[in-house]
Amino acid sequence: MDLQLTDARATVEERAAVDALLGPPETPWDGGERDAYGVRVSRTGREAREQRHLLLPALHAVQDRIGWISEGALNYVSIRLTVPPAETFGVASFYALFALQERPPTVVHICDDIACGSSGAERLCGEMERLIGPAGTPTTDGGTTWQRSPCLGLCEQAPAALVQRAGIGVTDRSIGCARAEDVVAAITSRADEIGLGADVATIAPQTADESRSELRLLRRVGVVDPGSLDSYRAEGGYEALRMAVEMGPGGVIRELKDARLMGRGGAAFPTGVKWEAVASQASRPHYFICNADESEPGTFKDRVLMEHDPFALIESLTIAGYTTASEHGSIYIRGEYPLAQARLRHAIDEARERGYLGDDVMGEGFTFDIEVRRGAGAYICGEETALLNSIEGKRGEPRSKPPFPVSRGLFGKPTGINNVETLVNVLEILRIGGPAYAQIGTEGSTGPRLFCLSGTVERPGLYEVPFGATLRDLIELAGGVSGGRPLKAVLLGGAAGAFVRPQDLDLKLTFEDTRAAGVTLGSGVVMAFDDTVSLPEVLLRIAAFFRDESCGQCVPCRVGTVRQEEALQRIVRGAQIGSRDEELALLGEIAQVMRDASICGLGQTAANAVVSAIEQLGVFEGADTSNGSQDRSVPTRTEEQES
Ligand code: SF4
Repeated sequence: MDLQLTDARATVEERAAVDALLGPPETPWDGGERDAYGVRVSRTGREAREQRHLLLPALHAVQDRIGWISEGALNYVSIRLTVPPAETFGVASFYALFALQERPPTVVHICDDIACGSSGAERLCGEMERLIGPAGTPTTDGGTTWQRSPCLGLCEQAPAALVQRAGIGVTDRSIGCARAEDVVAAITSRADEIGLGADVATIAPQTADESRSELRLLRRVGVVDPGSLDSYRAEGGYEALRMAVEMGPGGVIRELKDARLMGRGGAAFPTGVKWEAVASQASRPHYFICNADESEPGTFKDRVLMEHDPFALIESLTIAGYTTASEHGSIYIRGEYPLAQARLRHAIDEARERGYLGDDVMGEGFTFDIEVRRGAGAYICGEETALLNSIEGKRGEPRSKPPFPVSRGLFGKPTGINNVETLVNVLEILRIGGPAYAQIGTEGSTGPRLFCLSGTVERPGLYEVPFGATLRDLIELAGGVSGGRPLKAVLLGGAAGAFVRPQDLDLKLTFEDTRAAGVTLGSGVVMAFDDTVSLPEVLLRIAAFFRDESCGQCVPCRVGTVRQEEALQRIVRGAQIGSRDEELALLGEIAQVMRDASICGLGQTAANAVVSAIEQLGVFEGADTSNGSQDRSVPTRTEEQES
């Protein structure tokens, strides 16, 4: 392939960053030399293009080393991977954590999304402005800048920050319950202080059961050493994999079907059916992917599991690989989760060294290995086909379905995809048996469920309860509304979910009950708002989030999310074009078009919260149409802040 490159050249350091990942260039196809006879040797152009899946890792390598990706670096990556430079640019510009303009090597991201917005984000932003300067402006030494950020997945530790750092031997760092002095300390800390991430502030998850005796998914969290395979084995680790091998792939699928395990990512698809569909495909190879790209605002359960119990995910993914005849496993993890990434990579290395991954897993004669794929700040990559495109080195744009990934997934091959919580449930099913598992919860919603409690509750955290607990139960487990204030509303299911009224707290949190009530469990978000929170401002933040995160592939979503935000801005700021009723009618029409005509779930759900707030809470009737003058308003990001 002839690559039409610009004149920009990569620096020595940029080339070194890419070469450290890809190895030195070998052939003229990837930037190397001809041999003594001028013959193009070694790999062919086609072989080089098959490296396309390394595009995101190569861009990460430059971003991590330099702090931004120059035009010369884009050219060099294009040459090394034989990817047209326009496509390299298209991919690099898709992801929020990649910078294509020069900027300081340390960038602090301050979450101002809906959970942090109600828990001190504005105060933290004000302190950052006082200490460091205006958002987006480099410090006088040119070493640091800060900017506002969408949800960082630390909602139980709001307000949250992420320190993104460039250089050799440094890693990014998450900061929960962030104060300005914590952020400054993280900026100035020495590189070698950031290892496996033990120094990252992490609050142990709250649980419903003080004695822990009823915990199933969280029972090892806070008990095992996440850096030790022996510690995991001492708590029963790898017993489930042994059982799986004893019962064989058919036996595992039978247990999953008996358990009636439904996926926990939002779609609630039967897991046993999915695994069986992958296993039965004649085409080879098969792949199995853990979707750990939880980016729904308010969601942090998978992060807690990965940070505190990483071997459980590796074991359950290995069971999935064994059952579906997949030899290759991937964990696609949010770019904003540095601690979880570090712990997973360490756990994978240890499992491989000890024979729990590799060519002959546990001496049982099957092959399975796992790689960690790091996202780069794109909410849409939580959609399974967008995730597949991202791994393949493309923009994270969803594919039209069918075909579904079980028949044509990663690289066009059969692929199973489950999220972290779904996979960890498999360990419990094998431990107690599918029929016993099905006794937990309700007829239509079996097993335990993790809920992410955040917002204005006394004890934000991750709570495990059997399906069937009510919203009231969960809020009480979290200590009730902060300060005993009146509850104004609950956002159930995240930004793509819907609002529930205070008088509806007896809603049972099951698939069937929420469906009947016209809401969704989604990813298990329960975000409470007390009477000090301005709901119109919350809606504006949600609308800005979807406008920013739409991949832009289809018109109803690309245009609809913008129009939705504009109409909300006009209503909230009192600048309607027509009457308020006309603006509300317009919002309803936009919602319907997005729901009916968008390609994927993002566009189909982007208006859910807005519509439910209008219809269920009457949010634009009476005093709540005021311009957010109350204490805990959620800020609206401007275009400049988004960039
Ligand atoms: Fe992209 Fe939105 Fe269309 Fe989904 S609905 S494909 S996010 S533009």
